[in-house]
Amino acid sequence: MPFTANRQFKAQPRFLVAADGMYYTSDDGRQILDGTSGLWCVNAGHSRREIAAAVADQITQLDFAPAFQMGHPAAFEFANRLTQLLPNDLHHVFFTNSGSEAVDTALKIAIAYHRIRGEAARQRLIGRERAYHGVNFGGVAVGGIGANRKFFGNLLTGVDHLPHTHNLEKNAFSQGQPQWGRHFADELERIIALHDASTIAAVIVEPVAGATGVLIPPVGYLQRLREICNKYGILLIFDEVITGFGRLGEPFAANYFGVVPDLITVAKGITNATVPMGAVFVRQGIYDAFVQGTQQGIEFFHGYTYSGHPVSCAAGMATLDIYLKEGLLSRVQKLATYWQGAVHSLRGLPYIIDIRNLGLLAAIELEPIPNKPGDRGFETFLRCYELGALVRAAGDNIALSPPLIIEKQQIDQLFDTLAKALKLLE
Ligand code: PMP
Repeated sequence: MPFTANRQFKAQPRFLVAADGMYYTSDDGRQILDGTSGLWCVNAGHSRREIAAAVADQITQLDFAPAFQMGHPAAFEFANRLTQLLPNDLHHVFFTNSGSEAVDTALKIAIAYHRIRGEAARQRLIGRERAYHGVNFGGVAVGGIGANRKFFGNLLTGVDHLPHTHNLEKNAFSQGQPQWGRHFADELERIIALHDASTIAAVIVEPVAGATGVLIPPVGYLQRLREICNKYGILLIFDEVITGFGRLGEPFAANYFGVVPDLITVAKGITNATVPMGAVFVRQGIYDAFVQGTQQGIEFFHGYTYSGHPVSCAAGMATLDIYLKEGLLSRVQKLATYWQGAVHSLRGLPYIIDIRNLGLLAAIELEPIPNKPGDRGFETFLRCYELGALVRAAGDNIALSPPLIIEKQQIDQLFDTLAKALKLLE
């Protein structure tokens, strides 16, 4: 079982057997409200027939085409449609099969880009504490989760980490972006002074850190990172595996924050999670450098058997049709105020030490049980599941990210369930 307490699961397994719209069905026949879009990915709600039909058609039309010296039209069509959603000139795409692959691909692109332009010394990568960038070696190295790193040796060398921006003393219960904490971005200057800009390839951050408990960037923080990267010729990568495809009420967090990174990684919502797929978007200048490099005999030797898989492209285009037809990429703009009010109405319930929200994301941070970090979060998750809602425990943070089709009464149901669960814990 991935990322699961295996012994606990074996003793008390939990199986989901069906899903439709906002609800899962559990193996004992209960309707479970999906408070997490599966795993931050089923943005258009579950089991969409339009996507199923597109996948079936594609498999009978062209089931597979090698992503090696050959192409197929659907990958180009999907790439062209996707890039229309992206800000500025993030107009080129490299397809992968997951978020982890997108992250490692983006890191390789960044290092190779500098090399092609004659700056081969730019190899260092800068991530951030409490960042999650998937499970491959690159992503774990730039990630900032001790538990994910400690068993796996040296990972990548030449990686530094910015501090995370979460601060309970200054920012507990802020609604939307916290006002305090922009200065955490200035730490980048310190790292640059230590190693010299000429050795640094890229900075990677999640605009909103998801997996470690929905950490919202302070006002001006991402803008400041962009400024510093510009000043020193360092590429800025936004890992938008969670924030992509409407989570903040804009297609991407880059649109929402008005900050244009050089690369964006996505996955999850790209196919409404029906079929595995990820992607890296790059700016025109990066694409041009590689095309130029090809003329000099330098190729970007990287790819996957399933890069731009026809079936994933079909699922992705059917997903995009739904997003556009139903206005889902901006729907959160209409829900965000209600969502914010609902989540903050839990304040005062047992054990809650912080509540954070942005777009259709939120976290409720619980006071840890002494010497048992994570236990209270996990108990809350179990109680919610018994009471009919799927939430996600990230340590002692309860993270919420429901499908973008959620209605107000389902928002109420979600927070009523959470309130009951917390009172039961007491
Ligand atoms: N980056 C971020 C920000 C993520 O949240 C995740 C997955 N939760 C990943 C990368 C990895 O994606 P995947 O599990 O598809 O490899």
